[in-house]
Amino acid sequence: MSVELRPLGDRCNIQCRYCYQEGTRAATGATPRYSLPRMLATLDELAEPFVLFGGEALLVRDADLEALFAYGLQRHGVNAIQTNGALIEPHHVDLFRRYNVRVGISLDGPGPLNDERWAGSAGRTRRASARAEAALARLCREGMAPGVIITLHGGNTRGARLEVLCDWIVHLHALGVRRVRLHLLEVDPHNGSSGLRLSDADNLRVLRRLRALEPGLSGLHFDLFAEMRQMLLARDAVSSCVWQACDPYATRGVRGVEGGGERSNCGRTHKDGTAWLAADRRGYQRQLALHVTPQAQGGCHGCRFFLMCKGNCPGTALEGDWRLRSEHCATWFGLFEDIERTLLAEGETPLSLSPRRAECEAELVALWREGLDESLQSLTARLGLATAGAAAEHAA
Ligand code: SF4
Ligand code: SF4
Repeated sequence: MSVELRPLGDRCNIQCRYCYQEGTRAATGATPRYSLPRMLATLDELAEPFVLFGGEALLVRDADLEALFAYGLQRHGVNAIQTNGALIEPHHVDLFRRYNVRVGISLDGPGPLNDERWAGSAGRTRRASARAEAALARLCREGMAPGVIITLHGGNTRGARLEVLCDWIVHLHALGVRRVRLHLLEVDPHNGSSGLRLSDADNLRVLRRLRALEPGLSGLHFDLFAEMRQMLLARDAVSSCVWQACDPYATRGVRGVEGGGERSNCGRTHKDGTAWLAADRRGYQRQLALHVTPQAQGGCHGCRFFLMCKGNCPGTALEGDWRLRSEHCATWFGLFEDIERTLLAEGETPLSLSPRRAECEAELVALWREGLDESLQSLTARLGLATAGAAAEHAA
């Protein structure tokens, strides 16, 4: 779970063609409210560490940036920021060091692989990308290696570009980067992503190539593969929100705080520009609907990976309808199968193949009907789920 502080809403210095916030930008006429005291008051109420987010968080004026970081350090001992990297200047690096700021940079590869991160012209786009790459290298040199988010799409994986991307990740590893988060491009009628999305088969091919890269990069982890493995082992204490039964009206995984101190939901839930107020309580209507809806009608009924996947992120739901499963279902299914095979080969017992999987699923669904939830780790322990032997059973 994270608190995302968005002081300037969706305002950004570049316009990635595939950005899920484009719909909100187009729909929002009014200037978002901005009040440092109100933001701090809401952060005080939430009493949790926060990540400075955007849009582009470094558009915030320096004095306010420092005030927010000073508050975060004093209150939580740590800060975090997610940025496209193009605006990072030496004085920001100094701020990051002084206020213990963990930096995440979104970049799609080296040079031209970032051309979909449009900055107004081809020249400006390339210069913005070069600045972000230079900032990333500088942070690594100064012992503050950032995490990197890579969105996978046609512009950075088609043809020979996939190997260019792989070489760049090897380069990042040599620089000291150890955390790489992979996102699949989401189809969104409100932005210019059309034509950039990979087919399900290509998404799976690209993810398999990146997964094959991982063992050669000591200490570097792609969050995606590690999390899917942990979900299959019912160790979900630290998994990200997409595997955790997200309610699009009360996104527990992401609690937003806007520039006027208003509480909001994860931006992925309102790509059309209608940002509903965050509900006080979580519901599980999405997961309950998916559990009974046949796969041919956009549900997940009968899928052996449902306990782990739960239809994935509602922000990626088919046709933008949260009642339907993720548009990336086929990719997740194929990757779960791959990791399931790996676990079996290692003598582990994936929950997806446990003879008591259906019982576990029924128990979780019963909890959801009551408006409750439980981690897989706790649930399997409570049920005394004896998965030992499932591997042998499967092999037979
Ligand atoms: S909408 Fe998706 S990205 Fe946002 S909190 Fe929910 S699962 Fe996470
Ligand atoms: S893999 Fe597909 S069918 Fe299975 S739970 Fe995930 S989204 Fe649903």
